Amino acid sequence: KDPVLTVEGLEVRFQGAAGEIPAVQGASFSVHRGEVLCIVGESGCGKSITSLSVMGLLPGSAEAEGHIRFDGRDLLRLNREEIRQIRGNDISMIFQEPMTSLNPVFTVGFQLMEPLVVHRNLSKKQAFEEAVRLLERVGIPDPGRRMEQYPHELSGGMRQRVMIAIALSCEPKLLIADEPTTALDVTIQAQILELILKLKEDTGMSVILITHDMGVVAETADRVLVMYAGKVVEEADVRTLFEDPKHPYTKGLLRSMPNVDDDTYTLEAIPGTLPKPGEIQQGCPFHPRCPEAMDRCREENPRVFTHRPGHMSRCWLAEEEDQDHAGESVG
Ligand code: SF4
Ligand code: MG
Repeated sequence: KDPVLTVEGLEVRFQGAAGEIPAVQGASFSVHRGEVLCIVGESGCGKSITSLSVMGLLPGSAEAEGHIRFDGRDLLRLNREEIRQIRGNDISMIFQEPMTSLNPVFTVGFQLMEPLVVHRNLSKKQAFEEAVRLLERVGIPDPGRRMEQYPHELSGGMRQRVMIAIALSCEPKLLIADEPTTALDVTIQAQILELILKLKEDTGMSVILITHDMGVVAETADRVLVMYAGKVVEEADVRTLFEDPKHPYTKGLLRSMPNVDDDTYTLEAIPGTLPKPGEIQQGCPFHPRCPEAMDRCREENPRVFTHRPGHMSRCWLAEEEDQDHAGESVG
């Protein structure tokens, strides 16, 4: 499969009072045509910063290095206008509900029609018809009436559907969804995820879905990146990740999932908290919380090991396993 997006050695730093703060360190991954890549981790792990880098939406105090290749261009080397063009045409983003960019003072119809007029050069009449069609596609009943309404007149789930309709209006090749269902209740959450998957099937677009919830990963992902303290610590296809997780952090995330089968809700959270960026200077950033930490983990930062094609982890345990199966590691 062709990659739509390839990120190579992404580094993002912020200028803080006490010097540079690393937010993303050496992230490399690609997103293939028509697949859902989930980026999972706790809040502050760098997953949102990674996606904002792709969108060219990093705050001014951030500095990004590396390569973000999309359609033969390096997004980190485009100027503001060029990146704005791509954002309006090829890459769209939706956010967690409270952060959505729906404007409270304009009607749903106006906010849907505006990008159609600006980016797709439709007439007002065409834009109106297309907006109604988009609302139908995202499962909003009575779209003609909804067009007249203001965001506060809609439920949270309906507002997220409108946001998805706006994101689809430019027919993106890549949709980035950052915690799109976190603010919604469980039933609505399932409906919105189902909608995103259906639209992906219909359009062939690729999706980067950012979440802290392994349940969401299980329902949506083709492939998964697990991030911790600014680094990708494990990458695998979704089945491998759930059946044969390698990194102790991934194992912790899986243990913290409620068990739906036996109804008991054994929520075993990972003890401790995510270190602040730059806080851990030496060794593996997970070592203070890791149940499997060894002496070496406090001294040396692990590199990336390959378990099998497409399955990588950043943990010294992988090297030991690697020695048992001589020659499997490609670093
Ligand atoms: Fe745990 Fe050591 Fe692996 Fe880090 S390198 S995750 S501390 S076992
Ligand atoms: Mg976030």
